[in-house]
Amino acid sequence: MSRPTALRDALRVKPGTRIRLEKLDAGATFGHDKASSVEATAGQMARLRDLQDRMWAEAKHSVLVVLQGIDAAGKDGTIAKVMEAFNPQGCPVSSFKVPSVEERAHDYLWRVHKRTPGKGEVGIFNRSHYEDVLVVRVHDLVPKRVWSKRYDQINDFERMLSDSGTTIVKFFLTIDREEQRKRFQERYDDPTKRWKFSLADLDERKLWDSYQAAFDEALSRTSTPWAPWYVIPANRNWFRNLAVSTILADTMAGLKPAYPAPPDLPPNLVVE
Ligand code: AMP
Ligand code: MG
Repeated sequence: MSRPTALRDALRVKPGTRIRLEKLDAGATFGHDKASSVEATAGQMARLRDLQDRMWAEAKHSVLVVLQGIDAAGKDGTIAKVMEAFNPQGCPVSSFKVPSVEERAHDYLWRVHKRTPGKGEVGIFNRSHYEDVLVVRVHDLVPKRVWSKRYDQINDFERMLSDSGTTIVKFFLTIDREEQRKRFQERYDDPTKRWKFSLADLDERKLWDSYQAAFDEALSRTSTPWAPWYVIPANRNWFRNLAVSTILADTMAGLKPAYPAPPDLPPNLVVE
């Protein structure tokens, strides 16, 4: 049975490797079971809370978390469950939808760059600039000669963010076709979830293979030493939560965030 800390190595896409999602098991749990995972995730959340508090106080590092995955892969659920660990004040969440008129009048990174986290912040991207090599490619929204250059552009952009003090961690949540079918059915059947569902989702589902090909290429070409991808088997929410919380906490711990000591305060001060 692999220990939770081993997940970071097991799930990272090593730069230069060719990813084929179809060959991976979206139901994999790496030897973890539900009960112990729920408990271990609570422990990771406590770690995340402590690390973010230090990061916010120190105001030195930025962390950018990118979440991608096909419809119903669990991006919203991951934000609701795992990011609950954070004080909202230091944790801006940005959800990238179909670009507005103003956004479309600019280059594709413009809206993204504006939302990158400042010092001390953990910024969450719910979808991201990757949509510009995913949905845009699948639907031919721009010609191939335009989107095909974006992999290198994205690597350069992320390199610049990294050189400027931003630690980037990218999670790709993978579910299989049958799991998406079940989740769509559940969304339709449950009155508290139906608002999330639309017939357009079924049209997108028909493009499953094109999406998988676009995911494969993006994951294979944009996992870099400065902005690695982690492919998270996400059929089981409890394993997804364990994997994301563990990898994120391990990444943030690597920054060794520490409470600052204001230099101008005298020793032994007593407030009257
Ligand atoms: P949701 O995540 O369900 O709120 O849906 C957001 C929608 O916006 C998805 O269908 C995305 O594919 C779409 N979207 C996000 N970014 C882009 C983009 N750059 N170009 C076109 N569609 C996008
Ligand atoms: Mg949707």
